[in-house]
Amino acid sequence: MPDSPTAEALTARIDAAARAIEPQVITWRRDFHQHPELGNREFRTSAIVAEHLRRLGLDEVRTGVAHTGVVGLLKGALPGPVVALRADMDGLPVSEEVDLPFASKARTIWNNEEVGVMHACGHDTHVAILMGVAELLTGLRSVLHGSVKFIFQPAEELPPEGEDGGAKMMIAEGTMENPAPQAIFGLHVTSRLPLGVIGYRSGPTMASADSLKITVQGRQTHGAMPWAGVDPIVVSAQVILGLQTIVSRQVDITKEPAVVTIGTIKGGVRENIIPDSVEMRGTIRTFDETMRDDVHERVTYLAEAISRGARAGCTVCIRKNYPVTVNDPRLMQASVPTLRRVAGTEKVLDIPKVTGSEDFSFFQRVVPGVFIFVGVVPPGTPPEKAAPNHSPRFFVDERALVLGVRALAHLACDFLEGSIRYD
Ligand SMILES: [Zn+2]
Ligand SMILES: [Zn+2]
Repeated sequence: MPDSPTAEALTARIDAAARAIEPQVITWRRDFHQHPELGNREFRTSAIVAEHLRRLGLDEVRTGVAHTGVVGLLKGALPGPVVALRADMDGLPVSEEVDLPFASKARTIWNNEEVGVMHACGHDTHVAILMGVAELLTGLRSVLHGSVKFIFQPAEELPPEGEDGGAKMMIAEGTMENPAPQAIFGLHVTSRLPLGVIGYRSGPTMASADSLKITVQGRQTHGAMPWAGVDPIVVSAQVILGLQTIVSRQVDITKEPAVVTIGTIKGGVRENIIPDSVEMRGTIRTFDETMRDDVHERVTYLAEAISRGARAGCTVCIRKNYPVTVNDPRLMQASVPTLRRVAGTEKVLDIPKVTGSEDFSFFQRVVPGVFIFVGVVPPGTPPEKAAPNHSPRFFVDERALVLGVRALAHLACDFLEGSIRYD
């Protein structure tokens, strides 16, 4: 007969196991931090993950999912549902500027450029945390009702140009089947919140992120004789200003916010030549799928119409990257008591929307999912002064890691035990 601990006893066991594994989680994290790998190139990272899961004796360990992804399955001794936990593994093309003994000195080639590599988004912590959770929950196997699927995902920060990857590809390769989880949980470390704090939000939480490319086609001429051609530089200036009116004049911003940003503009080689064409690239962020399509339509219409007014051609390409990250409201509300127990009631904050994006959103399209934020800013530094995620100075107070382990372990157990109910 397996022992069936009370909820309090199980909580105590999880917390004791989390404390015991904390030093190991930090050691893993430092190793990953020192050896970051870019999207679809997480060979070393995923090999360490797979070896760990095999050593734990999980019931299944699948490797090479969406290139470098790893999926592990732990079957509890008792019948019950399936819950998935996800960590992303990739670093960023950023040269680290944090003074740490385990700072990254890695360099690599990315989209044909030599770049430094750094875990500037903290995915090293996510991998280490989920490895710790896998070990912790394996220790509870005899009392576990149901199964836990551990998803180690490549290329959250987008794969290299011309390659597929990330959550969408993992799903296409069967990650959410056999067995299909009924819910998924994930976390992200953040420099927007202090150490010890867990941030959450119900409903739309992170923005959709889509790439925009506009090519304005003019007709090349002498800079002294603009009437002899069509000036795509002036047209581009009008297009950029016109785009500003989409969010400010055309969409209902009381419903959800939106952002349209042009980040690059390229055209011309010489002061006295009006070039043939100008290329602009930008990003579009929204928090509602209907608004997303609407903004795309308006950007296209407006850029084409302004160009037509100047007798220039215009091509608008919008590539849909990540959908809106939507925390299922019922699952989120049902999870809050668990988070409060883990972090303390006053340390669990309902936070504002985040205009960053996450491909965790693809998993949430398959099953209800909850994505939470774990603060990593050390005491004494106001979060608004801390270097943000993606900065070369992004810094993690490692005391946050054990909180991440406890949060995911408790969410998984509470879901399997039925105390997180959402239907
Ligand atoms: Zn990131
Ligand atoms: Zn990230």
